Amino acid sequence: MTNNSNFTYAVRTATRQGLTRDLPHGPEDLQWVVNSATLIYGEHDAALVDTYTSIDQNAELVDWVKSFDRNLTYIFITHGHGDHFFGIGQLLAAFPAAKAIAAAGSAARALTQGEPKWRDGFWGKLFPGQIPEIVYPEALDGHQFELEGHQLQVIETGFTDTADSTSLWVPDLRLVVAGDVAYNDTHQYTAETTRETREQWAQTAERLAGLDPVAVVAGHKKPDAADDPKILAETAAYLRSFTAVADDSRTAQDLYDRMLALYPRRANPGALWGGAKAAKPA
Ligand SMILES: [Zn+2]
Repeated sequence: MTNNSNFTYAVRTATRQGLTRDLPHGPEDLQWVVNSATLIYGEHDAALVDTYTSIDQNAELVDWVKSFDRNLTYIFITHGHGDHFFGIGQLLAAFPAAKAIAAAGSAARALTQGEPKWRDGFWGKLFPGQIPEIVYPEALDGHQFELEGHQLQVIETGFTDTADSTSLWVPDLRLVVAGDVAYNDTHQYTAETTRETREQWAQTAERLAGLDPVAVVAGHKKPDAADDPKILAETAAYLRSFTAVADDSRTAQDLYDRMLALYPRRANPGALWGGAKAAKPA
């Protein structure tokens, strides 16, 4: 049942423009962000965790999944942000036997992102003509599903970079597919957070480390970064730095400059600028 030679996973990244594009300054070679997608597969079947943002990116994702020559049985979505689930429709068109699922809370959050205000007014403006027709994940009954007898466990992680997020724990691989509970060498999206939810997020990352995983796949990472479990502690440390620096900063620019000095080479400084503006409104 746990013959790991026939049970493994692969990670694919896709790079896109960030969402916050009015940076006062910052490293120009790092103004992009990656979404990760993880395929967990056995001898015949596979489950995909998260999709990408644009029509073109998701078309590439479909080709990548096809290259494994497995039956896609599940598309699991970690949380309700559009850049993680907008590919469901294209994946289901290519793999009609698959089921797109998410925890009930994440599935409910996803509905908001499909409203015209968000789909067209937000995402569509940032990626004109590139946002797919939206198909939503179904709410999963319970907190686990199976792949060829291996358990895939959904862990509720509460408010991380948004409300009602989750991670997927695969005990037989000691693998955490973290969604946005972990970031890997990428500025974290803090625009929706408060000091209380940042601390809650940090503690949640530490709780996942307590599972003693051998690999942790972040929802956002640098393409070549290792999926090292240490990113959970790094994610927590970044959040606590953000709060400490915010407490000691008067303006968004001040907070941004000082965090950038602490983390000069993380990808996507736009996420930091967006978070700084939210924490220190003009
Ligand atoms: Zn994300």
